[in-house]
Amino acid sequence: MINKNYCVTTTCFPIKGFLRTAIYDLPKATYEFVPNAVHDFLRLLSQKSFSQIYRNTTEENKTYLSEYFQYCLEKEYILEIPNEINKKHFPKLNLNFEFPSIISNLVIRVNKDLDFEKIKDILVSLKCFNIQLITDSTFDINKIEQYLDVIKDIGLHSIELIVAYSPGINYELLTNKYKNIAFIFIYSAPVNKFIKRHVLGLQQIFTSKNKFEITHIKSLDFFNVNITLFTESQLHNTYFNRKLFIGDKGEIKNSIESPTEFGNINNLKPPDDILKIINSIEFQKYWFIHKGIIDVCKQCEFRYMCVDNRIPLQRNEKEWYFDTECNYNPYIAKWRGEKGYKTLSECGVTSNQEGFKLNRKKINTINKELWGD
Ligand code: SF4
Repeated sequence: MINKNYCVTTTCFPIKGFLRTAIYDLPKATYEFVPNAVHDFLRLLSQKSFSQIYRNTTEENKTYLSEYFQYCLEKEYILEIPNEINKKHFPKLNLNFEFPSIISNLVIRVNKDLDFEKIKDILVSLKCFNIQLITDSTFDINKIEQYLDVIKDIGLHSIELIVAYSPGINYELLTNKYKNIAFIFIYSAPVNKFIKRHVLGLQQIFTSKNKFEITHIKSLDFFNVNITLFTESQLHNTYFNRKLFIGDKGEIKNSIESPTEFGNINNLKPPDDILKIINSIEFQKYWFIHKGIIDVCKQCEFRYMCVDNRIPLQRNEKEWYFDTECNYNPYIAKWRGEKGYKTLSECGVTSNQEGFKLNRKKINTINKELWGD
């Protein structure tokens, strides 16, 4: 093994967190946790030969090195290549994010007076292929078909409906009629259940006893490993980037959570007026606030698969933070509710307008208790 030639697979990305690394396998859309030492080994192997690394490793660490090596080979994170082939012939994946649409997602809080012909014009002119419609209990859900009919022939990739429960509505008929309905979520329903399930997660219909509310709760169930999200998250905020929200009074915002309104759809002429708003620096304020410049998240191994709807707050030109805490603590690799979970402040981490502080000694002690040496 020592004299053979190896290269690191260019589609697998070890993403180092504070305590552990997640290796993202983009083609397989999976991830796996490994110790941070495996991240360091893979990084080294992309620059040096295995024999060089082996020679420079102390005797006591050679056993670990061999274990990491075997593990990575089995998992195909590294590949054996002929000796005469230079590693440079396996170029790194281009992580530039390019997207054909000005807006990728349009979210609308629907009201009965909404001019859907105008919405159709906006979707077409912005080349937006994904729409989410949110209704409240006052909206007559039977009217939704009239809206869907207006946009049925413009080639939308996905339509998501978030609707208030109303008895006697057959949503399956709706998904049969409009094949681009990706998901229907019915809130304030009497039971939690899937009315329609699909192995690939398409056209699912789910009723929930919960009310419709905006939460910031993260869960592994909502994380995705894929090349679009991975490349976008390198330099963009994957929640706010290329999103447009129209509220029930016609107000225009970047997202439902955004505090700033940028005019009203009822007084604007699409596409020019809308384009002017979207292209403004103020509207795009959060589009480029990626996790690499936000406290805590920048040390989290999930940062390139997690979509986060919290509004980032600016400390200075290069630093951002949140005033609410995520329910995952990357310093101890624990989720809220898990045995041993502690909040950031209990771990000696503070993040606010004044600055960011990390008590490494305290965190190390906690991790020793939680995970051993
Ligand atoms: S700490 Fe940040 S990156 Fe990690 S799971 Fe929470 S929101 Fe996502």
